[in-house]
Amino acid sequence: MAAGPAIKTNLIGLDQAGLEGYFAELGEKPYRARQLLQWIHQRGVTDFEQMTDLSRNLREKLASVAEIVPPRVIREQCSADGTVKWLLSEAGGSAVETVFIPEETRGTLCISSQVGCMLNCTFCSTATQGFKRNLSSAEIIGQVWHAVNTLADGRFGDRKVTNIVFMGMGEPLLNLDAVIPALALLRNDLAYGLASRRVTISTAGVVPGIDQLADGEEFALAVSLHAPTDELRERLVPLNRKYPLEALMAACQRFVRVHHRRSITFEYTMINGVNDGRAQAKGLVRLLNGLPCKINLIPFNPFPGTPFQPSTDEAIYEFQKITRAAGIITTVRKTRGDDIDAACGQLVGQLLSPSERRRVVQEQLARQALTA
Ligand code: SAH
Repeated sequence: MAAGPAIKTNLIGLDQAGLEGYFAELGEKPYRARQLLQWIHQRGVTDFEQMTDLSRNLREKLASVAEIVPPRVIREQCSADGTVKWLLSEAGGSAVETVFIPEETRGTLCISSQVGCMLNCTFCSTATQGFKRNLSSAEIIGQVWHAVNTLADGRFGDRKVTNIVFMGMGEPLLNLDAVIPALALLRNDLAYGLASRRVTISTAGVVPGIDQLADGEEFALAVSLHAPTDELRERLVPLNRKYPLEALMAACQRFVRVHHRRSITFEYTMINGVNDGRAQAKGLVRLLNGLPCKINLIPFNPFPGTPFQPSTDEAIYEFQKITRAAGIITTVRKTRGDDIDAACGQLVGQLLSPSERRRVVQEQLARQALTA
């Protein structure tokens, strides 16, 4: 039988355990994994030839069976407020968006976990493009690799990625097989070395995923709540039919218990006349009763075709007053990057025109042919 084209393993998405396994399969020493992690993630090197502490033999062997491929940039936009959005090309002509948000003392990178999303939250623009596919761990960590290396060139000033939020496109807890190795790389001192509180997973409320996370390493959890009752939440987050508030809050209680009362952030998108009244604020206080938590109010970001409007400043202020009076730390998220459609819930990643899509697919085919 004729051998098919050899698909090379993209080492960028393998965590330490994955790389150790890979080297064992090649008949090499597992400690090589440590060297590779540092070359790839700390020095940004993608060419095995430059990995001078590996023998020539090993470099050649690696080049014949493996590769280190970060995503390709299709478009880069910079907002007046310093926010940078990248549209990155992924396999098969898909594209995802990644946003860097500089603040005084930190730099937050908002990354995507899926191409599109299957949850259909009625106020989110990603929902309008439907679900295409899960991203691989290489594609998830590739976004971080790209941002870290692009910022290192100084074009955007002296900026660094200090925090990661899984708040771009997709639902991370529906793609845990890829998200977990990516988390391991974010955490690993040989790769990105980020403390657990600096990495936030945001979920629309996938209860089994919250339990799976609670079982593993510690990361910050954000839950997109948006409503204090099932009736209202079902209209905004259809997933609520599968995991109603009672089940969701019970999972949050378990998470907090397992992680020694670590606080959960509840995101609440403020939509004019829909979920932003005093009654909802009081309902929210009752729902969160006693749970160690913070509330983050996000003014709704409109997008073409949406029937919703953002809440008024007064409504947001009143809402915040009620939850704060109940002793819950409540912040209002500043909208960033809205002039480049990089604000929360505005990521669609569908900017590939048919001709761009053809070009990307052809490039990918050509690359595969070269490595065949
Ligand atoms: N699926 C995950 C992560 C992606 S959404 C989740 O649901 O948490 C990241 C955050 O942006 C969520 O809190 C989401 O509800 C919010 N969001 C989505 N669309 C928005 C919009 N148009 N305006 C403001 N926030 C929005």
